[in-house]
Parts: sequence; C-alpha cells; structure tokens
Amino acid sequence: MSDSSERSKYDFKKAMQQIVAHRGRGTELISVYIPGSKQISDVMAYLRDEYSQSSNIKSKSTMKNVQGAIDSIMSRLKTYKSPPENGMVIFCGEVPRAGDQTRMVQYVIDPPEPITAFMYRCDSTFFTDPLQAMMIDKKYYGLIVIDRKEATLGMLSGTRIIVLKHFDSLVPSKHHQGGQSSVRFERLIEIAAHEFFVKVADNATTVFLDSIMDLQGILVGGPGATKDFFIKEGFLHHELAKKVITPLFDTGYTDESGLKELVDNAAGAMQEVDLIKEKQFVQRLFAEIRKADGGLSAYGEDIVRDAVNMGAVDKLLLSEDLNKRRITVQCPNGHSYQATVPDADDRVECAVCHANAQVVKNEDLVDDFFELADVYNTDVEIISTDSEEGQMLMTAFGGIAAILRYKIQ
Ligand code: ZN
Repeated sequence: MSDSSERSKYDFKKAMQQIVAHRGRGTELISVYIPGSKQISDVMAYLRDEYSQSSNIKSKSTMKNVQGAIDSIMSRLKTYKSPPENGMVIFCGEVPRAGDQTRMVQYVIDPPEPITAFMYRCDSTFFTDPLQAMMIDKKYYGLIVIDRKEATLGMLSGTRIIVLKHFDSLVPSKHHQGGQSSVRFERLIEIAAHEFFVKVADNATTVFLDSIMDLQGILVGGPGATKDFFIKEGFLHHELAKKVITPLFDTGYTDESGLKELVDNAAGAMQEVDLIKEKQFVQRLFAEIRKADGGLSAYGEDIVRDAVNMGAVDKLLLSEDLNKRRITVQCPNGHSYQATVPDADDRVECAVCHANAQVVKNEDLVDDFFELADVYNTDVEIISTDSEEGQMLMTAFGGIAAILRYKIQ
C-alpha cells in the first residue's frame, strides 16, 4: 500500500475515534455535511440563518457556544472557493476540559466516499453515522460450496453472508442403477458432472471477476472430494484460481447453511489473510533483533527517529495504538524543543526553565513520523494489535521500530 493511502486511512480512523468520544455540556456540538456539488455561499447563508435562530436558545452558555461554533465553521469555510470533490464534513463545538473549562474543537474531514446530502445537526454529540458507514471495509470474500449434487455461490462482506447463486446438478448418483452401472452409464455421469462444474465456474467468473479488486480471497468448501477435484482440475478462471485460500474446507452442506459453515470453519484463515502482511513485517523485525548484533533492527522512538534521519530505514513499523502527540514548545525565555507526550494542551511547563510555555505545533506522533518518512522516501507500515506480533511490537518495543537498510551505530 502506498504511504499516502496508508496515512489517510490511519488519519481517518484516528480522527473518527476522537470525534465520536466528544460530549458537549449541552446541545451545542455542530456537524455539517457538505456535498461536493454544494455552493459554499449556500452553506454560508444556511449557517447565518442558524446563527440568528440560535438566539432563541434558553441557556445562555449553550447559545454562546453554538454561535461560537457556527462562527468558527464560517471562518473556516471562507478559505474554500468550493468544496473538495467528495465534499467535506465539519465538526465543531466546545467540549469539556479539566475543571470547569471548555475548549473548542474543530475537525474538517475529507470523506473517503462522496457526501450525497447536505446536513446540519446540532446535538450533544457529533453526528458521525454517515462517516462510520464509510469505514466499513468494502473488501469481501467469495464463497463456493460444492459437491456433485448441488453448489452455492455467495459472498462474505463484513459479517454478512450473501447468497448469490444456487445450483442443483442433474448428475445422477453413481449408485443410481442399483450397482449395475455400465461403462457407458459411468461415462454419461462424468460428462454431466463436467458440465455442472463448468456451469458453476462460469457463474463464479460472472459474479466475482467484476469486483476482483476488492476480492480478498475465495473460500471453497464441501463435504467430500468434489471440491478438491473442482479446484485441481482448473475449472475456475485463472484470476479467481489465484485467490483461492488453501486448504479447502470441509462442510456438511452445499446450500446456504453450507456457506455459513464454510465461513465459521475458515474464520481463522481469513483473519490470517488480513493480518499476514503485518505479521510478516514484524516477524522480519524479530528475526533481525534475535541476531547477536541486533542485525538490521532498530526500536525505540529516538533511535528510530535518528535512523530515519540518516536515511537508513527500509521499513518503518508503527503501532496503530501509539496514541501519543508530538509537540513543539516555545517558551518566553527562548527555549524551543520538541517532545513526545501522551496528551497536550496549548500551553505546557517549559522542560528547561519551567516557565509557562506555548505549544506551537501539536500532532499525532504517527503523523509526525509519516512526515519524516516522506522526506527520506521511507516506507511506513501501520501495524495493528490484532496479531500477537502486533501486540509484541507495542508492548515490548514501544510501538516504534524499523528494519534497516544498513547497520548503524
Ligand atoms: Zn524555557
């Protein structure tokens, strides 16, 4: 995956985690969904109207906060001539912070899919449902259960199993003739079976090949040896054949309930497919770490940062669960430095002279690394904690590690 898409995926997921967590003191958090085709001037007119209507709000503090948020959204919109192609979503409002205070948060989201309808909401939480729906993976698995009597094609999307086609074969049972099957009868059976397999494979091509980009893999199941024969004899289109996950799976049925059995039996295998790349990167790292001299490995934030700055990093591995901020601090006494912290407000105590200092830059640590990596054309892989390897990376190595191009001191 290219770093820009790896980064936008990460940023979107992180932003959504934060947005969903905010709670307003009152009904004062504003969400605005703007389609790409909408005129900014129309949105401004709408917001001015909401602003004047908000003067009817009974609670003075809620009114002030709603108007403050609308103001902030309007000044943000002034920087746009027109919305981006997919449209945009703005979340803005006052959220509680330590003590009695609040702070204003604003998020401008570039949605991964087009916004289709203009929407304005004011509530005690941000309205995220349409964006959450976009986070659902469009990836899917093809499902085939087959024996000589019948076959069913389906797909697994998220946790949903969808039946696409069902076939009953007209292949007579081999023992149909009470055991007295002639050679000629056997031959007819095999021709019928062959035609049945061709028909199933042709239909698989029709239903799966069109969307092969999002096809993660094909799971094949059935009660006996027919499934193995079907795959081994190459009935499937070669592009589909490449996607078949092995081993094949035993199921008792070849109808809709067979699809469900197939998914249950293959759950482990599917997770593997999704995680396999992540696991491989971490295993490569561990193999280097195990070498007596530490091999081509580096871990820990400072060491890895130095390695990236030397252009020595081949693959930068960052845990999705880092949840840290990289801040740049400037103090009135002239100290300026960067630091990594769990969380930060606009002002912090200067680490050198303890004066009240200003945070002039504050961003997600992973994003900070993405920017650094960009300068040196370094590959970045975000590693989830869904695998044992991913958890190890986070707990044992602080979530920041690198596979090096060459050894450094
Ligand atoms: Zn200072």
